[in-house]
Amino acid sequence: MAKDKIKELSQRLSFSPRNAWEKLSSEEIERYSREYSAFLEKARTERRCVSHVVNFLRSNGFVSLDEAEQGKVIVDGKIFHSKAGKAVIAMRIPDGEHTALNLIGAHIDVPRLDLKPVPLVEDGGLAMLKTHYYGGIRKYQWLNIPLALIGTVIDANGKAIEVSIGENASDPVFVICDLLPHLDDRTGDFKKIFKGKDLTALSGSTPISFKDTVQEAVKLNCLKLLNDKYGIVEEDFLSADLELVPALPTRDVGLDRSMIGAYGHDDRACSYTALTALVNAEDLSRPSCALLLDREEIGSDGITGARSSFWVNMLRRALRVTGAKLSTGSFELILENSDMLSGDVAAAVDPNFKDAHDPANAAKLGYGVVIVKYTGVRGKAMTSEAPAEMVGRIRRLLNKAGVRWQSSILGEVDKGGGGTVAKFFAEKGVNVIDIGPAVLGMHSPYEIVSKVDIFETYRAYKAFFESNA
Ligand code: MN
Ligand code: MN
Repeated sequence: MAKDKIKELSQRLSFSPRNAWEKLSSEEIERYSREYSAFLEKARTERRCVSHVVNFLRSNGFVSLDEAEQGKVIVDGKIFHSKAGKAVIAMRIPDGEHTALNLIGAHIDVPRLDLKPVPLVEDGGLAMLKTHYYGGIRKYQWLNIPLALIGTVIDANGKAIEVSIGENASDPVFVICDLLPHLDDRTGDFKKIFKGKDLTALSGSTPISFKDTVQEAVKLNCLKLLNDKYGIVEEDFLSADLELVPALPTRDVGLDRSMIGAYGHDDRACSYTALTALVNAEDLSRPSCALLLDREEIGSDGITGARSSFWVNMLRRALRVTGAKLSTGSFELILENSDMLSGDVAAAVDPNFKDAHDPANAAKLGYGVVIVKYTGVRGKAMTSEAPAEMVGRIRRLLNKAGVRWQSSILGEVDKGGGGTVAKFFAEKGVNVIDIGPAVLGMHSPYEIVSKVDIFETYRAYKAFFESNA
């Protein structure tokens, strides 16, 4: 067979994802990446995410659901609802009769170290903050890095106090110290060596007084400093959501600046792209909705997670308050007709850890947004799987929009595992598929994404919102 013919056959018959930088304007990618990086810097906790998202929505003409129900005028069907300050749903409802919704769900919670209800102790002349980790972390990765303390404290009178120590470059930070290699004779399974109970952060070393003998004088000094700054007392820690999160700056990565290193790409990458896609989408024909959810990293349990009925109630209330006409008359059937992208990050192949993946079914950094037909563990358990027709629809949509995409599953068979919000939406009958950018170093305090993958995720989400599949 002639060489040209073989080349033509190979191009026509083989599936070979292409590097996504090839055809796109790098200026446009750079501009979007800068906005995304700025968002990550400001949104280091789920509460911070919600407050920035709410500001962004308000500045784009969105009205809160509560205000709308009290009579505030909704312009262009733009409405949002935040739940307990930890999850937020934004919705745009076009005119006309509706048979289905377009939903994108992502999560804004990220693995971190929460303070225990009684966190502050003194030991060996040092004040220490005790933590309880949240989500799947490699404990050793949290040692000897700067940590910021961010969160909300409710004082004895019920007043909410915002705490932020370590976010600004001039702030002090907190550090969990590891044992020096000279003295470290620990051997064996690193998962057993590093224990959750040892993730205790250094928080102070000076006593409140040198003259008087004071019990736990270093701890008392810390309590005084907190009281001076925030007016809080030790009992207030019990009614608080305080998180230690990496205080590492968001930076370009690589000589070519093609990647972004930051805390929390999983899954603020999909949250930010879904949000901006919803706000910027043109010519919506279906009611469209970005659901930025909480609690995904621990299984979506809790009032702000995908298993809570709050998102169902929000959609129902939003459709009612805007007077949207539903063709089926039944909200449940509208949900069953609806399409959803479960926006979550995929694992990119790391040259250092190739064996963890099946190379033919693994995502590559810089090769566009990743379609994940199924997640789950051991024989496809604990997941929803998108049927062939759904994958086909998304494939056609992305090809038509010229979005670079690839396909992956999480790890080699029996190695992977990890659900997303998809299955909880599938329980309501929503047609759902996982799709998002690939990440290196997932769940570490400093994850890496490719700028072009973030941009292609945004373009994919925007094309989805503008579609009537
Ligand atoms: Mn995730
Ligand atoms: Mn995760």
